[in-house]
Amino acid sequence: FERLAVPAIQALRAYDPGHDLVAWRRRVGPSLVELGSNENPWGASPAARAAVLDQLHAMHRYPDPLGGDLKRALAAKHGVDVAQIILGNGSHELLMQFAQVFAEPGDEVVASQYGFAVYAIATQAVGATLRAAPALSRASSMPRGHDLDALAASIGPRTKLVYLANPNNPTGTWFGSDALDAFLQRVPRDVVVVVDEAYAEFVEGGATALSLLPSHPNLVIARTFSKAYALAGLRVGFAVADPGLIAVVERVRESFNVNCMGLAAAEAALGDVEHLQWGLARNAEERAALADALASRGWFVHPSQTNFLLVEFGDRTQAIEAALLERGVVPRPMGGYGLPGCLRITVGDRDENRRLLTVLDEIG
Ligand code: PMP
Repeated sequence: FERLAVPAIQALRAYDPGHDLVAWRRRVGPSLVELGSNENPWGASPAARAAVLDQLHAMHRYPDPLGGDLKRALAAKHGVDVAQIILGNGSHELLMQFAQVFAEPGDEVVASQYGFAVYAIATQAVGATLRAAPALSRASSMPRGHDLDALAASIGPRTKLVYLANPNNPTGTWFGSDALDAFLQRVPRDVVVVVDEAYAEFVEGGATALSLLPSHPNLVIARTFSKAYALAGLRVGFAVADPGLIAVVERVRESFNVNCMGLAAAEAALGDVEHLQWGLARNAEERAALADALASRGWFVHPSQTNFLLVEFGDRTQAIEAALLERGVVPRPMGGYGLPGCLRITVGDRDENRRLLTVLDEIG
């Protein structure tokens, strides 16, 4: 059937989750330490769990197609209008829709080298061409973050869309909103810039580019409930932008794309600020401890404002990955990102992090 697929899809490789987690769960059982997908080890708010149970009686009905209650809660929290919000089946779905709406064959989409894998998939799926701007090169203690100058320089007459994760996955690096504002001023107004803030809650002080929306109508901010809100399994994401931009993206939204449990759980999780803050504090504490422990063992750890660490293991990467897997600890290999000398490690709870470090110490 390969030849029946349109050329853009023939050239496409499906999203690679790194490891077959279902097989690993079956093999190792509940003691498996899953540090490969940047999930939240502390779990969702009890209010979100209760909201899911409360929806069991409604499973035979379609959910609210527009997710009105969740949108109103999000609008109130972020000080925006309901018409500025679109909901997605995870933010992944929204990232695909932006390419579908704004790019076609012959167009270019710009992203940074070491950008999230979905940007390339979304671009190729619509037959457009991805132009990867070089990231900062890692000289001595410098991390491989975005180079906003290189990104701006990569925007040409055929560019329709820019994807920019802040903080970035997989590097964990982050830049402030002044730098983003300066970058946006260099982008033509007819190029849509998607700032993917999947990890924004983890940034110290909770910084976000939402305040830049009024001055940049071509800006879209994508967020998710999968990370800080610990609802990865329910698939809820959202984006905030100019109401006119949201209205055109709404045209390709699947009917009922967010399920009833996801809608209810996300709204409840949003209301439980205390649980969110508790999880963020745990993450910050464990991230600092894990980064210190890895650095003290001599590995370069990228500075991170997220719930994961990009660690440079150099030519020992493969051996370390194999040893971790053998002992039931799953990291994310980075070969697919062009970083074969690195592993991305989600910050786990204290016990999970200890198990990771124990394996590293055992293999010396
Ligand atoms: N953006 C980034 C940068 C991510 O790392 C991820 C998930 N790994 C997503 C978007 C997608 O998240 P979700 O579809 O679960 O909302």
